[in-house]
Amino acid sequence: MAVNFGIAIHGGAGTILKSTMTPELQAQYEDALKCAVETGFRALENGGSALDAVEAAVTVLEDFPLFNAGKGSVFNNKGSHEMDAAIMSGSDLNAGTVCGIKSVANPIQVARKVMEESGHVMLMGDGALEFAKSQGFEVKNEDYFFTQQRYNQWQEAMAENKVQLDHTEKSDKKFGTVGAVALDKNGNLAAATSTGGLTNKKFGRIGDSPVVGAGTYANNDTCAISCTGVGELFIRKVVGHNISCRMAFLGETLQKACDVLVHDELVKIGGEGGLVAIDKNGNIYMPFNSEGMYRASMSSSGTQEILIYK
Ligand code: ASP
Repeated sequence: MAVNFGIAIHGGAGTILKSTMTPELQAQYEDALKCAVETGFRALENGGSALDAVEAAVTVLEDFPLFNAGKGSVFNNKGSHEMDAAIMSGSDLNAGTVCGIKSVANPIQVARKVMEESGHVMLMGDGALEFAKSQGFEVKNEDYFFTQQRYNQWQEAMAENKVQLDHTEKSDKKFGTVGAVALDKNGNLAAATSTGGLTNKKFGRIGDSPVVGAGTYANNDTCAISCTGVGELFIRKVVGHNISCRMAFLGETLQKACDVLVHDELVKIGGEGGLVAIDKNGNIYMPFNSEGMYRASMSSSGTQEILIYK
């Protein structure tokens, strides 16, 4: 029997229009996605776990300032960067998440440590940072997270007293969260998501990414899911767990269950965004209800996709 393994990643969804994209910028996004998906896939190929693969892929994306996670995180309404991240293991439903963490380059790596070393599932704010320091993570100063583009976005959002999700129509509505889902050679699933949240979000606001079952979920019986979009609505629809339950209890396929959530349930409440998903058989699906979603996948059957638009 062929061993089936694979990975899917995203770099956020939203109003990503060809008309506002330059060829140079598009090439940069595609290179970043390629680098991340290949890093994760290589881990799987070498016998690494799904957890290792999703952590590695998300780490790569966190290090690219193009995406709203790690280095490229957006500004909150106090002009600082509070990041959320989660990782989940489908074999034992173990999970680790950090909420509103500051000053670490790779929140996803801290989330993995929370899962494995803290005895807890969620750590927030200063407590999460203190834990990260105790695990040897370097503390970065605010300059590390400064990008002119994010700063301009924040200034614009502040001037209009808006958060990024209802930003003006003229500018890009982009949710640049990053995430990955994977199935390894041993049949284990994992999911990871990392984000700076929404531009000009309230100090202390937490999105769906670090909420187990909402923006991030993995269960070996069904699927692994990582979401991107307006977090509040993904939390209210408990998107990741909802998809898993539909597969488990209604016998729906991955595609059917994802379509119900992304194209029906979320749409009904105005929930713009998308997700990447993989099931226990290695089927990959990357649906979204926005204009575009940065996404890529690779599987042991030899397929590789790097896509942005519909
Ligand atoms: N889901 C993220 C949040 O609400 C935003 C995003 O996907 O970019 O924090």
